[in-house]
Amino acid sequence: MKDIAIGIDIGGTAVKIGLVGKSGLPAEKWSFPTRTEENGRHIIDDISDSINKKISELKDREYNILGAGVGLPGFVDEDGTAHGSVNLGWTEPFNIEEVLSQKLRGLPVRACNDANAAALAEAWMGSARGYKSMMMVTLGTGIGGGIVTGGQILAGAHSCAGEIGHVCVNRDETAPCSCGRAGCLEQYASAPGLRRLIKEGLNTDMGLEEFWEKVRGGDEACTGIAKRFGSYLGYALSMAAMTVDPEIFVIGGGMSHAGQVILPFIREGYEDSVLPVCQNTPIVLAAMGNDAGIIGAAALALGNVRCTDTKI
Ligand SMILES: [Zn+2]
Repeated sequence: MKDIAIGIDIGGTAVKIGLVGKSGLPAEKWSFPTRTEENGRHIIDDISDSINKKISELKDREYNILGAGVGLPGFVDEDGTAHGSVNLGWTEPFNIEEVLSQKLRGLPVRACNDANAAALAEAWMGSARGYKSMMMVTLGTGIGGGIVTGGQILAGAHSCAGEIGHVCVNRDETAPCSCGRAGCLEQYASAPGLRRLIKEGLNTDMGLEEFWEKVRGGDEACTGIAKRFGSYLGYALSMAAMTVDPEIFVIGGGMSHAGQVILPFIREGYEDSVLPVCQNTPIVLAAMGNDAGIIGAAALALGNVRCTDTKI
């Protein structure tokens, strides 16, 4: 019998599910659209129906399903309570681990925030593989973050550990952040945040792809904006270094698709602010692609990212 876990990645547009062995590679994966209508009330049933169908198809295969892990865009407490999700239409808190476990005939279910799942995937199979501690920062529409230490997520007392997007990097800001405060990193280093810096600095609605292309080409004005972006993000990373001191920082999310061009700016901002002893901490791009959510969620179900290398 091969031990496997089910990894579930609930996104705002699609639910991705995979069967993942202890080697960390998905043996099988599938996906379907996320039905966010009616406050996302069908999502959990769609997931359990799909998995129960798959399990019945697998009954002749030699799999021992150890449990299921779920990553979702929203806060999840250590006891499994999901505190709503704007992207999924969920407005009321509920214990997703209990509800899903019941619908999966008692299969153990663990849930976490999707940035934490991405962090687990990078720690297990990606850029932070082999490191004892890491911090992941996902730069997208918002900024998420996750800390993995000793193969486990550091969730914190309020599931807030690693939420670097809402670290204040500018006390003089007056425009409000999505969290209701002002001056958060997310207001400068997320995709909308960087677009805002470009608009304010260059008075143009230039897309981010074009922007990074110009930075690559040495455009002075764009390079100046990239430096501002890097100084905010590097400053926030330096504060993380002073509190959790990870062995490596991994930068992921849609913005990281711009590639290596973003790293020197982040590095410069980081080195400007951090204590010299932490100056050489690597800052690298995420390595996991579309399967990161599935793999990270499966790692959560398996309990530790340092699994054996049993081939599936
Ligand atoms: Zn904020």
